[in-house]
Amino acid sequence: VIVFDKVKKSYGDFVVINDLDFSVSPGEKVTIIGPSGSGKSTVLRILMTLEKINGGTVYVGGDPLWHERKNGALVAAGESHLRGMRKQLGMVFQQFNLFPHMTVLRNLMEAPRVVLGLSRTEAKERAEELLQLVGLTDHAHKFPGQLSGGQQQRVGIARALAMRPRIMLFDEPTSALDPELVGEVLTVIRRLASEHDLTMLMVTHEMRFAREISDRVCFFDKGRIHEEGTPAEIFGNPQKERTQQFLRAVT
Ligand code: ATP
Ligand code: MG
Repeated sequence: VIVFDKVKKSYGDFVVINDLDFSVSPGEKVTIIGPSGSGKSTVLRILMTLEKINGGTVYVGGDPLWHERKNGALVAAGESHLRGMRKQLGMVFQQFNLFPHMTVLRNLMEAPRVVLGLSRTEAKERAEELLQLVGLTDHAHKFPGQLSGGQQQRVGIARALAMRPRIMLFDEPTSALDPELVGEVLTVIRRLASEHDLTMLMVTHEMRFAREISDRVCFFDKGRIHEEGTPAEIFGNPQKERTQQFLRAVT
């Protein structure tokens, strides 16, 4: 459902993504691990079309996000086409990025109403369902500033889910949290991971969690997949020296 075909991304002379071939199948739960600066967030940002690429092609649901023209220049797919593809993707960031001036309920209702055109009642119903899923029914009428970091991040997840995406992207969803709040957010993500239809691509430093929920783990280094495999392979028996080194340093 996601394919990176020889994707290149650089800032000036600095190569961030280097001829990356990478794909995720429908329903698959894939975790990206790797050192700081290896391009993990860039992969997710490219998928959200927050970053342009310099070469190759990215497909979401079989459709290219970028087209290569005859002269070699890359152009984005048409705006309406891109909007359609973006709708398939939900993203949860390290920083929660909630609308601070809206209540929790309004935060969840906004995009479904504006982008999907749901009625007030429909959007509210959907929002209430999601608040139940993330265990925040009692906080519907609070503002983000009145919630703990863990609660805000659970709202962030619910807000992404409100668009009913087929693919959820997580970029270090627990890194900004106090240690005692990490568990409640992982519990919500774990619950999502048990849904077979949802495709999940997550960047995380929570190695035990990655091991537990992933079908496949990709170790990134220097803008490429240095090694990939099942959690048992990557965490239990990494083949490459660089992977072993990284895992020794973080576990
Ligand atoms: P981390 O674990 O620290 O989040 P990462 O693997 O997510 O790292 P990216 O955020 O993808 O890394 O960044 C990859 C590289 O691209 C980094 O070296 C970063 O400094 C560089 N980079 C990112 N954005 C820009 C930019 N706008 N201009 C120049 N360089 C950038
Ligand atoms: Mg990052």
